[in-house]
Amino acid sequence: MVDLHTHSTVSDGSDPPARIPELAASAGCTAVALTDHDRLDGLAEAAARAEELGVDLVPGCEVSCEWAPGTLHVLVYFVEPGEGPLQDELSRLQADRVERNRQMVDRLAAAGLPVTLEELAAEAGGEGAGRPHMASILVRKGVVGSVQEAFDIYLGRGRPGYVSKARLSPRTVAELARGSGGVAVLAHPLSLQLGHIELASAVAELAGAGLSGLEALYGRYSPEERAVLADVAHRHDLVVTGGSDHHGTYKPDLTVGTGRGDLSVPDTTVAALAERRP
Ligand code: AMP
Ligand code: FE
Ligand code: FE
Ligand code: ZN
Repeated sequence: MVDLHTHSTVSDGSDPPARIPELAASAGCTAVALTDHDRLDGLAEAAARAEELGVDLVPGCEVSCEWAPGTLHVLVYFVEPGEGPLQDELSRLQADRVERNRQMVDRLAAAGLPVTLEELAAEAGGEGAGRPHMASILVRKGVVGSVQEAFDIYLGRGRPGYVSKARLSPRTVAELARGSGGVAVLAHPLSLQLGHIELASAVAELAGAGLSGLEALYGRYSPEERAVLADVAHRHDLVVTGGSDHHGTYKPDLTVGTGRGDLSVPDTTVAALAERRP
């Protein structure tokens, strides 16, 4: 079993990077990818712990993309921290996120909700703060009853606290990933909220734009949804990938390796993806 989608404190997960391979080993995974939003900073720490445990650490990250009329997420694998086209673009996205957090804090203040940048940094444990951390602070202050309510009322698209962030096209991410020696995969495809026919044409377009895989085996999908998506992937010559999208306490229903208990992504997935490297 492997898990190719996890988050740590480097973005919006609650577990430190070194904890991810520990959870993977306990779950019986032979490999685990750390895929923090826009950041590769946790990979060295995770890789060191993974090596001690005999787990294969697949370097990765998750990038938000523009996909009119909405957005989608692309997972990138096999890109290490350092110099390179994707790495350089990630630095720009990180700088944009810092500015966006400032603007969102201002908007929340204007809506009568005092959340400071200091509180945000403390909640995130340093850099990489985003909306889930703001939601958590609002819950703790008793402003809302849940993280979901925070998104629904204040933080979601079009709500008073929302500010959009810089986004690339999936084609650009795929090109940058290849330029950095990696591969790109469409994350949680049902987030596109498309029917069967529209989804198939979107996947065809994304395959044409250079994506190599489709995350059919996603933690929150039913066995039926996973089977349908795996079929879509096969028909477009995409690798069927999968992962839990573990975020620790920020998504408490999802566990490394097993997702909600029924996930099992085959070991062969990592080699199948590696074959698509440039
Ligand atoms: P950010 O990158 O700061 O815009 O935050 C994006 C993260 O917020 C996603 O990875 C999700 O974990 C979470 N998120 C986005 N939209 C919602 C929503 N409507 N309800 C709950 N969580 C959400
Ligand atoms: Fe997230
Ligand atoms: Fe995502
Ligand atoms: Zn994710």
